[in-house]
Amino acid sequence: MNDFAAMSELHVLRNFYESGATRPYEFRKQQLLLLKAAVLKYEQEIYVALHTDLKKSAEEAYATESGLVLAEINLALRQLRRWMKPRRILPDLVNLPSSGRIHADPLGVVLIIAPWNYPLQLCLIPLVGAIAAGNCAVLKPSELAPATSAIIQKIISEIYPPAYIKVVEGDGSVVIPEMMQQFRFDHVFYTGSIPVGKIIYQLAAKTLTPVTLELGGKSPAIVEKDADITVSTRRIVLGKFANAGQTCVAPDYVLVHEDIAEAFTRKLVQTIQDFFGKDAQKSADYGKIINARRFDQLASYLKDGELVYGGKTDRTSLYFSPTVLKNITAGSAIMTDEIFGPVLPILTFSTTEEAAAIVRQHPDPLAFYLFTSDKVKEKTWLDQTRFGGGCVNNTVWHFANHRFPFGGIGNSGIGAYHGKHSFNTFSHEKAVMKTPLWLDPAIKYPPFKGKLKWF
Ligand code: NAD
Repeated sequence: MNDFAAMSELHVLRNFYESGATRPYEFRKQQLLLLKAAVLKYEQEIYVALHTDLKKSAEEAYATESGLVLAEINLALRQLRRWMKPRRILPDLVNLPSSGRIHADPLGVVLIIAPWNYPLQLCLIPLVGAIAAGNCAVLKPSELAPATSAIIQKIISEIYPPAYIKVVEGDGSVVIPEMMQQFRFDHVFYTGSIPVGKIIYQLAAKTLTPVTLELGGKSPAIVEKDADITVSTRRIVLGKFANAGQTCVAPDYVLVHEDIAEAFTRKLVQTIQDFFGKDAQKSADYGKIINARRFDQLASYLKDGELVYGGKTDRTSLYFSPTVLKNITAGSAIMTDEIFGPVLPILTFSTTEEAAAIVRQHPDPLAFYLFTSDKVKEKTWLDQTRFGGGCVNNTVWHFANHRFPFGGIGNSGIGAYHGKHSFNTFSHEKAVMKTPLWLDPAIKYPPFKGKLKWF
C-alpha cells in the first residue's frame, strides 16, 4: 500500500482513539513495554541503520539515540501512574464549597515529524510522551535518513496496529501537507528547520491545530578570558563535532575573549586531534555529512574565513573534516546561516557588551553556552540573553537531562518536551470543578439588586 492510500485511512486512528482504548494506565504501560522490548530486540539493526545514514558508531548510536529512547521509556514506566493522577485544586472563596481536579487528558491523534540528524531518538522520544499521555500517533521519520526511517517503520508496524500508531514514510513536502489537509490532527510535534517549521505552522493554523516546534538557530559558545581553556575546548569540540556537527544544540560559532584567543585556538586544534586523530576520516567516532546538498552548502562556507584547521573533504564518501576558521568575513553566509556541520568559526571580542551585540544579531538561539569562572559575568550573560536552554562551562549535555524542559524560544521554537514535560506537551490540562448540592445560596442568582451591597 502506498502512503497516499495509507493517508486515507487516518480516520481509523480517530476511531481507535475515540474507543477509549488508549486511556487506561495498563494499556499505556503495555505499549511502552512493547516499544522498549522492540528497541532492545532491534538494537543491532538500529546501529547498522544509523551507521548507514550518518556513520555513527554503535557507541555513539547508543549514547545519543537508542539509549536516550530507552531512558525515556524507563522513566515513563516508573512515573506514569503519578503523572496520570488528577491533581487536586483548592476552591477559591467564591466557589466554597467545591472541589477541583485537573485531569491530564490525552490530546487525541497527534502527528510527530522528525528530522534526519538524530533520526531515531527525535522520532521515538516524542512518541514515548505521546503514548504515555494516552494518544494515537502518526510518525513521519525523515526521508533523508532512509535506513533509520525503514527500521522505525519495521519496529512500529511489528508492535502496534496501524489504527493506534502508524508510520508514514516519504517526501515530507508532499506527504505532510497531504495528511494535514485531509485530516485534522489534535497536535503536531515538529522537529526540524525554521523554514519548514513555518510551513507546518501555517498548515496547522488552517485547522487551529496546536503545534510544538523544535527548531534550530545559531547557538553561540562564549569563552570569557577567565575560562578554563583545557576544559572549555574539550567540551566545545565534543558538542561541535559529534555527529559531524549535525546537532541542533551544537555550538554554531565561538566568541572568545581576544586575550586568550590564540591559546584557546591552539588548544582547540590539539583537542580535535586528540579526539579524532590527525585524519578524522579514519576515526570510528567521526560521522559523515547526510547528503551531497548539505555537503556542498558546508563547502561553500570555507571561503568565509581564514582556515585554521581542517578543510579536508571527500564528496564521494561525504567526509568533511573538523574545520576551524578565523578572521570571518563580516556579513558572510557562515554568520547568517545555521551552519549545522563541522565548520567552526572563531570570532574574538574585547568586552562583554561587544560580544553580546554579536549574539543579538542572531536572536533566540536554541542553545547558549558560556565558559567563565566569574559569577558576576555568568549572571550578566544569563540575565541579558534570550535562548531556549543551555549550559555554563559545558555544551549540549542539558539535552540529556529529562528534568529540563527541552525547547526553543521565538525563532528557535514553540513548546518543550522530555520526561514529564513530554507528558504535559501531549496532554490537555482539563480543569473540572465539582460543586455539592447541599448549599445553593440565592445570592448567586438573579435578581441581584440589593444582594450585593456595594452596588
Ligand atoms: P527539515 O525541516 O528539512 O525536515 C524535517 C522534517 O520535515 C522531515 O521529516 C521532512 O520530511 C519534513 N519536511 C521537509 N520539507 C517539508 C515541507 N516542505 N513540508 C512539510 N514537511 C517537510 O529539517 P532537517 O533538515 O531534517 O533538520 C535540520 C534542522 O532541524 C536544523 O535547523 C536543526 O537545528 C533543526 N533541529 C532541531 C532540533 C530540536 O530539537 N530543536 C533537533 C534536530 C534538528
